[in-house]
Amino acid sequence: MTDICFIGLGNMGGPMACNLVKGGHKVTGFDLAPEAIAAARENGVAVSGSAAGAAEGADVVISMLPAGQHVRAVYTGPDGLIAKARKGALLIDCSTIDVTSARAVEEAARAAGLDMLDGPVSGGVAGAEAGTLTFMVGGSDKAFARGKPLFEVMGKTIVHAGGPGNGQAAKVCNNMILGITMIGISEAFTLAEKLGLEQQKLFDISSKASGSCWAMLNHLPVPGIVEASAANRDYKPGFAAAMMHKDLKLSQEAASQAGAATPLGAEAAALYTMFVNAGNGGLDYSAIIKMIRGK
Ligand code: NAD
Repeated sequence: MTDICFIGLGNMGGPMACNLVKGGHKVTGFDLAPEAIAAARENGVAVSGSAAGAAEGADVVISMLPAGQHVRAVYTGPDGLIAKARKGALLIDCSTIDVTSARAVEEAARAAGLDMLDGPVSGGVAGAEAGTLTFMVGGSDKAFARGKPLFEVMGKTIVHAGGPGNGQAAKVCNNMILGITMIGISEAFTLAEKLGLEQQKLFDISSKASGSCWAMLNHLPVPGIVEASAANRDYKPGFAAAMMHKDLKLSQEAASQAGAATPLGAEAAALYTMFVNAGNGGLDYSAIIKMIRGK
């Protein structure tokens, strides 16, 4: 049994903490939102009145927070988790944040003698609930070996992506591919419609030809063909367009800092900005086909 502190008990963190409890670990949590605290308490998470209080004596601190600014605020500074965690504790941030913040916080942890991993996830709320998340992990070999047994409680696929920040790098690169391919699929299926080519026929051909890709096979943006598609449920997410928008913006921040040319990533970010600004952030990301169809 590991004594775990869990900060950020929202849509993702709540079920992840719950799975750690089910896995036989002692979990003490903290969140700013009373409803998140109440739900976690019902699932067997002990609750503390502060992040520092939850971290007291914990072997491992895990966080699942909205963005880089929250992660920096929670970990650094005189009352931050790096200052308050016990000597030898392992820190794991599972939030999706910018690579620069992930590396800066890990550096601060290392300066204080603490191991830290970035372990963003894919798989969404359903994956968090089922304990089938994919973890993309950045950090030292030693820290990864320490964290792996806990990732295995919360997820199914655990990949060590390299040094600090590489988990976040993997996440933004992967989701940039996903955003770009979803737009490409949406354009092709819209064009097919206008050319009088049946959607099912294009799928039958393309899914077995060189146009095939993961998003087409799993998240086809047109209804009635791929069972798991959000298009069959009026684009109820799934993976919300607001989340894709966030990840594409992070990819562009990273590209700009690294001096990488990602013109299609930039275009995808711009298209999702328009889509989300038009009030569609709560729809599945595949609903971008509506905008491409001009609807
Ligand atoms: P959420 O908003 O449901 O949960 C975040 C929680 O953090 C909230 O309950 C909030 O009150 C809490 N919080 C914020 N600041 C805090 C602080 N200073 N101290 C303590 N608690 C604080 O968001 P979510 O959907 O759980 O997403 C969390 C992270 O996971 C994000 O980085 C997101 O990009 C990533 N992610 C989400 C999904 C998804 O499908 N929801 C999928 C993959 C990755």
